[in-house]
Amino acid sequence: MSRTRRDVLVMLPLSALALPHAHAQAMVDEADATAKALGYLADASKIDKAKQPKYVAGQQCAGCQLFQGKAGAAAGPCALFPGKQVSAKGWCISFVKKT
Ligand code: SF4
Repeated sequence: MSRTRRDVLVMLPLSALALPHAHAQAMVDEADATAKALGYLADASKIDKAKQPKYVAGQQCAGCQLFQGKAGAAAGPCALFPGKQVSAKGWCISFVKKT
């Protein structure tokens, strides 16, 4: 019945919030192939500007359009890393400033 399906969809975000952090999605590993290809680092302040000329100090995942975490969250999903979370303080070459 469609009503049941809708109820389940409504409840999903609430149950996700109730989960302790340890049960949240895994963090992106900097050593992952995709992370390496995108130059992702969990701590943007460690970006080597010589290697990443695109990086501008102050840019971080929390301020990126592809970041799907809540405002103020330490981590959140990113469209480029399905099923994983990136650090709000991270950065990669696909950074697009939130407008
Ligand atoms: Fe962070 Fe944006 Fe790169 Fe995703 S696309 S890892 S949110 S900088």
